[in-house]
Amino acid sequence: MYKQFAVESAPHNSCLHETQLTGQRNALFYAMVNKEDITFEQLLSSKEWADYFNSLSDTTNFEFNVYGETGAGRVITKENPFCNVINSAKLENLRCPAVCDELISGSLKTTEPVIFKCPAGILNFSFSIKRHEEKACVAGRGGFASYDDLREFLRLVKEKNLPHVPVTMPLSFIGEDRVKAVAQYAHLTLNRLLSSFDEKYRIEEKLLHTTALFDSHTFRMLSRNPELLCRYILDTLEYVFGKTTASFMALDRKGSTYNSVYSIGKYKEDLVGFQMSAKHPVIQEMLKTKMPMFPSASEELLAAYSLREIKSLYLFPIFIGDSLENMIVIFNKDFSREDLKIMNAFRDYVQLNLENQNLGFTINAIKKTDERLNYLADFSNSLLTVLSKEKLFNTLLEKALQLLNAEQGSLMLLDHDTSELVIEAKKGADEAVQTRMRLKKEESLAGRVLESGEPLLVEDIEKDPRVRRENRPHYKTKSFISIMIKIEDRVLGVLNVSDKIKGEAFNEEDLKLLQAVINNAAIAIERSLLYKQNEDLKQLSITDPLTGAYNRRYLNTRLLEEITRYNRYKHPFSFMMLDMDKFKEFNDTFGHIEGDKLIKALATIMEKSLRNVDIAARFGGDEFVAIFPQTTKADAIHITNRLKEKIDRALEQEASEMPLTISMGLTTYPDDASSIGELLEKTDQALYLAKRGGGNRVVYL
Ligand code: GH3
Ligand code: MG
Repeated sequence: MYKQFAVESAPHNSCLHETQLTGQRNALFYAMVNKEDITFEQLLSSKEWADYFNSLSDTTNFEFNVYGETGAGRVITKENPFCNVINSAKLENLRCPAVCDELISGSLKTTEPVIFKCPAGILNFSFSIKRHEEKACVAGRGGFASYDDLREFLRLVKEKNLPHVPVTMPLSFIGEDRVKAVAQYAHLTLNRLLSSFDEKYRIEEKLLHTTALFDSHTFRMLSRNPELLCRYILDTLEYVFGKTTASFMALDRKGSTYNSVYSIGKYKEDLVGFQMSAKHPVIQEMLKTKMPMFPSASEELLAAYSLREIKSLYLFPIFIGDSLENMIVIFNKDFSREDLKIMNAFRDYVQLNLENQNLGFTINAIKKTDERLNYLADFSNSLLTVLSKEKLFNTLLEKALQLLNAEQGSLMLLDHDTSELVIEAKKGADEAVQTRMRLKKEESLAGRVLESGEPLLVEDIEKDPRVRRENRPHYKTKSFISIMIKIEDRVLGVLNVSDKIKGEAFNEEDLKLLQAVINNAAIAIERSLLYKQNEDLKQLSITDPLTGAYNRRYLNTRLLEEITRYNRYKHPFSFMMLDMDKFKEFNDTFGHIEGDKLIKALATIMEKSLRNVDIAARFGGDEFVAIFPQTTKADAIHITNRLKEKIDRALEQEASEMPLTISMGLTTYPDDASSIGELLEKTDQALYLAKRGGGNRVVYL
């Protein structure tokens, strides 16, 4: 929340790196903010400021000391080794450190840096700085101005037998100009830092106060309730600036008007309904500059709202990306320069929070949509492989419920012939809904959806004027979605989804998602319905309508398959043909309807009596055939005889009034024939032989 200050330009002869200084500023600032109650001298000696002096010392090779008004000095950087040696020697004629002390206290009286050479030949400077009413002095101790001065110093060390000088500082010589430049640079930067920090301190302290009140955590907590959030923002303002009349404005959905959504202060009642057109030049200007506006034409802005008591306004824009979504409008306020800065910072802070929140929402929405879209893609793929109608409908319903986190639902298809809705799949406790049940279109809510063509997204079944009916007890929630399943203009049915697992109502997003599910599923549904029809058609074309047994066409297909199989595996198969004896008589005696019944009964007996692998078919009239795959003649004779016994017994029961018998002819491929035609012909011959022999018998070739 703290902005860095712009770096003041350092004098060109300074070797202090600007970035170094910039980096320290925040630390220095915090030191000031947190140590308001300490003295100036203490502040300058604090760790944070010591870092600043140390960096000055590193780059200038000066030792820095700070003295308070009481005079006691404090070394805050590495010590100058030359001074150290002389000071510890206490040589009378050098008057160290008294000379320095005098100069330093003298400099407290002036503001400009003072440069001096001490009796030991070391160049020093000193200057005073001021903060509020407190003064402090900064002294810098450097090196020797010339080689002569250094030589004199070393002579002294030798003569007086002073301790060896540990040379940690480079033995370079510094001219007076250089000392002056360092002194001036240190003086200038310190003063600037202090004054700018002082100003910033005041602002930041207030802002700190503001932002402490207005913390991101609370912001996030309130973000789900826009009204509370606006209140929180404006209440914070009032707390910081005292009594304030202000409005929080929000752009409407159409993006045409800013409406006051919450106001505080003396005129808050008058501000209800306060609006500003998004086209207003002031707003247009704000869109360009992204800066707060203090329109002078406030009369014109406010006149329409009889807000005559309000004389001025400040508009603080809040952008989400490039969109000017909200404004904080403050009325009748004379902001000081400082307060305006705080207000701007606060606006930045609100904007940052709103933007973050918005970003969070977007990311979540993307994540969620992404997950859901992936799911949808998988789902569509899985549907495409499901061809069975029942399985498809159950899968579709199941997946739709999963996707919407819902518990109950049903899928209904429209029977176009009867205008009824047939329940094809259901999940949930509603006993009124059972699979295969038929509902009259007019009687169900789903019928309503079919009539209007519009999906029903109902939040509360008891309150929604379109439905308004009592919620039935097996529904946990009062919300549901009912949506039409259709392909282009062809209506297929309706999908109903109810009861979100967590109990909340369905929303627009759920509806969109369900629509997507249906768009994907409709193709699969239609495909499955077509498949079913196709299967039905196929079935029709291979079966005999009277008995449901396979017909002659299918027989041919199967015979061909059996011959192909023989060619590959050399398994022989047998073929049987049967014909009722004297069936004409039966028809003539009992009528065609009874005759039909008998033919049907014969088909049923055959179906029941044959093995699963055998295929029975109606050849025509009173003639039936059977294929015995992978069956030799010997086995086929056995099977045929057994079949005849069973049929005989059944016919005895079915037509007890008139004895009915059957004749059967039997052949084996490839023993008796080498083609379908020949096989049929030979079998017919066998049957003929059976008839000629008096009927009621099996003849094989
Ligand atoms: P045969 O002993 O020589 O087999 O003499 P048949 O009386 O059984 O006569 P045939 O097999 O030559 O003719 C079949 C008769 O079966 C002809 C017809 O009256 C009867 N029939 C054929 N199709 C149907 C049918 O779909 N329903 C009924 N009720 N009768 C049929
Ligand atoms: Mg017959």
